[in-house]
Amino acid sequence: MAPAVCDLLLMIQRLCIIGVGLIGGSLARAVKRAGFCAEVVGSGRDENQLRRAVELGVIDRYETDPARAVIGADMVVLAVPLGAMEQVMRGIAPHVERDAVITDVGSAKGSVVTAAEAAFGAAPAHFVPGHPIAGTEKSGVEASAADLFQRRRVILTPLPYTAASAVAAVRTMWEQAGAEVVEMGAAHHDEVLAATSHLPHMLAFALVDTLARMHEQAEIFRYAAGGFRDFTRIASSDPVMWRDICLANREAVATMIDRYQGDLTVLRAAILRGDGKRIEEIFTRAKAARDRYCE
Ligand code: NAP
Repeated sequence: MAPAVCDLLLMIQRLCIIGVGLIGGSLARAVKRAGFCAEVVGSGRDENQLRRAVELGVIDRYETDPARAVIGADMVVLAVPLGAMEQVMRGIAPHVERDAVITDVGSAKGSVVTAAEAAFGAAPAHFVPGHPIAGTEKSGVEASAADLFQRRRVILTPLPYTAASAVAAVRTMWEQAGAEVVEMGAAHHDEVLAATSHLPHMLAFALVDTLARMHEQAEIFRYAAGGFRDFTRIASSDPVMWRDICLANREAVATMIDRYQGDLTVLRAAILRGDGKRIEEIFTRAKAARDRYCE
């Protein structure tokens, strides 16, 4: 049996990471570096990747079957794409230790709560939905880094019946990884992230796809400069992961696309009628907002 939850505030004895990719691998590296974890067990589908994770020192050992990986773990982190969450939860549900704390890193939270309710019957009191606001356009364990979460925020979205001790344990783990932890409701998280993360990814993917399908695409990409590279970096992100995020947060993402489309229509009209004052007004407001954010 796993140790009592309060012991997790001092140290994790066995951390089980299901999905040893960019986020799962980076968390494993960070808590190991902090000396906050005695053993890390990884799980995933591709044994070569898991073997590589052991070679890199990211995990201590692995199990290809998540049901075996969770045995004896006092902290279980689900770091798989959103579309795989429910299936993984169903697989581990009968095997996870009674006192183990379970958390996830998925980029949308409402869908993860629904998946937990479906897989466990009701979301367990020791399940703490979470989302680190950190990442890159890269995927896989090779891209993982111990300092990925340094001074970055992690949002936890506990449910009304989530045990306070479980929230404290997950909070401590992320703080040990260098992050600042905040809490909010799952629905609010999904609205906020639709605006700040999901919409920008939709724009980047759509822009690059539009240009790539133009007849003159070779010439267009040849003359693309720094601005194009800056704006489109995130279009190199993993298509499967982002497909899952769109589907998981579809209402909030669609609302933000509508809103953006409306504002783009206003800008288009101002350009067509040669309304320099209106264009400058929009650009000035945007520049001020971004400058404030960067400060
Ligand atoms: P990643 O690098 O592709 O890692 C995903 C891992 O999950 C891989 O190791 C993959 O290994 C494993 N996996 C996939 N399907 C699985 C399944 N059915 N069963 C078991 N393992 C499975 O992706 P990531 O960027 O770390 O993203 C993981 C999660 O973090 C996602 O839920 C995402 O929404 C969230 N997130 C990502 C970012 C970001 O910027 N990337 C930021 C915050 C949160 P195998 O293919 O070998 O199974």
